[in-house]
Parts: sequence; C-alpha cells; structure tokens
Amino acid sequence: MSPERIRADATSTFPRNLDHPEPSIERGEGVWLYTTAGEKILDACSGGAMVSTLGHGAQAVIDAGVEQAEKIAYMYMDHFTNEPQERLASLLIEVAAPQMSYVRFASSGSEANETALRLARQFHVDRGEADRWRVISPAQAYHGATMATIALTGRTRTMHGPYGQYLSPHLHLKPSTWRFDPSGAAALEELDRALGEAGPETVSAFFCEPISAAALPGYSPPEKFWHGLAERREAHGFVVCFDEVVTGMGRTGTWFAYQQLPIVPDIVTVGKGLGAGYAPISAALCRRHIYDAIAAGSRAFDLGHTWDGAPQSCAVGLAVVEALVAGRLVERVRERGAALRDQLAAALEGNRLVHDVRGRGFLLGVELVDPRDGRSILPDEMQVADRVEEVAFEHGLLVGSTHSNADGFTGDEVVLAPAFTATDDELEMMVERLARTLAEVESWVSSRLVRA
Ligand code: PMP
Repeated sequence: MSPERIRADATSTFPRNLDHPEPSIERGEGVWLYTTAGEKILDACSGGAMVSTLGHGAQAVIDAGVEQAEKIAYMYMDHFTNEPQERLASLLIEVAAPQMSYVRFASSGSEANETALRLARQFHVDRGEADRWRVISPAQAYHGATMATIALTGRTRTMHGPYGQYLSPHLHLKPSTWRFDPSGAAALEELDRALGEAGPETVSAFFCEPISAAALPGYSPPEKFWHGLAERREAHGFVVCFDEVVTGMGRTGTWFAYQQLPIVPDIVTVGKGLGAGYAPISAALCRRHIYDAIAAGSRAFDLGHTWDGAPQSCAVGLAVVEALVAGRLVERVRERGAALRDQLAAALEGNRLVHDVRGRGFLLGVELVDPRDGRSILPDEMQVADRVEEVAFEHGLLVGSTHSNADGFTGDEVVLAPAFTATDDELEMMVERLARTLAEVESWVSSRLVRA
C-alpha cells in the first residue's frame, strides 16, 4: 500500500469504509485527476458519482459562481426569491423539460426525491384522496441516502441493512432484466398484483429511474412496460415520479431520459448534472395538474431546506445550462453515445466475466457474471466490483461500480459515465483502460474460482 493513502486511524474524518485507505485528490483538469501523491488518473465517471458533466475546471461556471457570490451568495427562499432562481427555473422549463411547468429547487438528489414524494402525496391530499400514500417501485434501485428514499428500494440487504424499522413499507417489483423478465410482462403482472394487494386507492406514486444509473447501470425496462405503466396510471390515478438525478441534464443524449420513452412523468427530479459538481443543487419539476391541485387546495407546499434556491447555487446551475447549450453538449452525447457503447462492447468481446454492455448516451453499464456459466451472480464475498475499481485505479482509470449481489437481483456492475466534454481520444483511452482492467480481473476471478 502506498504511504500516501489516508488510513482510518490517521484521520479525523469518519470514513465510509474503515478498511479502505484513500488517496487524496489535489486538482482536476477536464477528465484528468491529480492526487497529492502525484498520480494522474483518467476520470471515466464524472467525478466518480456521474456529476461532473462539464469536466473539472470549467472556468465559465466557476466565474458565474464567484460573480454571484460577490453580489449575494445566500438568502433563505422563505424571505426572498432571487433572479438566478427565477431565470434557472424558466430556462429549465423552456430548454430542458418543456413538458413540465414548475420547479422546486433543493441541494441533493435525496432531497429532490423526498420533495417529489411529498409533492405526490400533497397532490392527492389536496384532491381529497388522503388515503393515497404507498409507493410502488422497482426493487433494484437507488434513490438516495435518507430514510424516505432508502424505503424506495427493495434492496433489503445492501440498502436497508439495520434500518428496516425506520422505513415505510412500500411495494417493489423485480427488475425486467434478461434474468427475470426480458419482455416486461412479468413486471406488469407484479405491478397489478402490488396494486391489488395495496388497494389501488392507497397508491400515491410509481417511482423509478427511466434509465438506471448506479443500481443497474444503463438499463431501462422494455417498451411494453412503459406502455403498461401509462395505462395503469390512467386507470388507477397514481402519479408517476421519475428520478432523473443522474440522467437529467443530458446524460443519456436528451435533456431528460423520459424524452426517449413513451411516457411523460407527472414529477421528475434532477440533481447531479444540474450543478455539474460546481454547486450542490437539485430540483423537482412537476406538470401543471400537480401544481393546479395544490393551487385549488391547501395553497401551500410547505417544505424547505436551508439551501433551496440559494442565489449562488442557482447562478451555477444557470451557467451549467448555458455551457451545455453553447457547447451543443447534449447533442454530442446523443451523437457519440452509440459509438462509445459499440467501442466498449468490441473491446470487451471474449471476456467471459462480461455478460452485457448496455446504456444510452454517456451512461454505460457493464454487467459481470460468473465466467463458469456466463450467467450466475458472482459469489458475494469475492467483492469483484471493488476489485475492478482497485485494478482500474492501478491502470490510471476512475470508474464506478456497484456490488449488490446479496440482494439477488443482479451481480457486480461497472459504470462508465464520462464528462460530455471528453475528447474522442480520451474516450478511447477510457475504453482501452477499462478493457485492460477487466481482462486482469477476469484472470483474477477465474484463478480463484478454479481453486475454490
Ligand atoms: N437518485 C439517483 C439515481 C442517484 O444515483 C443518487 C446518487 N447516487 C441519488 C438519487 C441521491 O443523490 P444525492 O446523493 O445527491 O442525495
């Protein structure tokens, strides 16, 4: 282990994993990261959490934040609105989400999703349907770290853990993946069963990512599922909330991923790419009928976090939208995405650890399986996703990975989610380094499985 790694017993910060000493980041430039130990790493996951869509060091965005801070950085939205907030809300609706009508800002993805949950509930209560509170959502999901958002996944082992008692008993569907439900028919049957079990008049919302990020990278249910969901919304009166914390702001090649699907959500959230790593800003957007019900009812949606709509965060958000428009970056993601996926699939061809390379735009996922049969989930204790991250780092590459094997819905997965500003050469380097990483991990896994 390099001496430059920060160990749990040598720091006052409380690390996430006490057994994983961490390198320390010093600076970033575009898609390149520099550690305090002098390492140079290629960032293939936009700051590691699919956030930094404009790369590191985007000067115009930094300048916009500084300029606003010089005027006024912070003011609580209960006392004043502000010009950056007003302009950003209008621009989001005009440019990014014309199907939506109102925007409520927050700081994190978890907060935006809680806002969506509460907005859905308030909508029903104000229409006189106070029994509606339950949520139905896919089990293999991630919607945030708070108790309300953890309850939205059915990953009881890896996400609920010891917090089960704090969580609302929502209902979950198995994912419509090749393993369980390639056509989407089984998920619709499960949805009908869940509606029947709960009583459709108690269901507030169906909550999901239109194209999954960390939980099932690059996956979207088959077309049939979306049509079926739209029919059931019409029949039963629940609302559809899409979590676009990752996919919003261009990640999949359209401003919002729902724009590629045959269904428009009633409420949609956006997070990471809205501040692109230059400010913690997120939002819940809703269609007019959601607002109208509250306008005709209680006339209040009384939820406020301290930083909601703060001038500096909104000025950063504005500069991000402007940079995406000026650089035609959403178009670039759309035009370049399919070729990137093909390049990755070609580079991984023949690797027996890899079952599937999928995704849209600059959100690609690689699903790993047991090389002995090409389909089983790898043994949980092998922690292959962690191994991928470690080996990638040795190859000078930062990728994301997910290890939710214990839940039984899917195995180890790798996420490639570059900045939209990455050049063709940089994208090629990412693919090449990831292919070398996965070849090395395949040998490591195979030798261990043979010995076992
Ligand atoms: N939804 C999705 C799809 C996410 O990927 C994340 C973050 N990984 C969140 C919600 C939560 O966002 P935050 O960590 O900013 O609260």
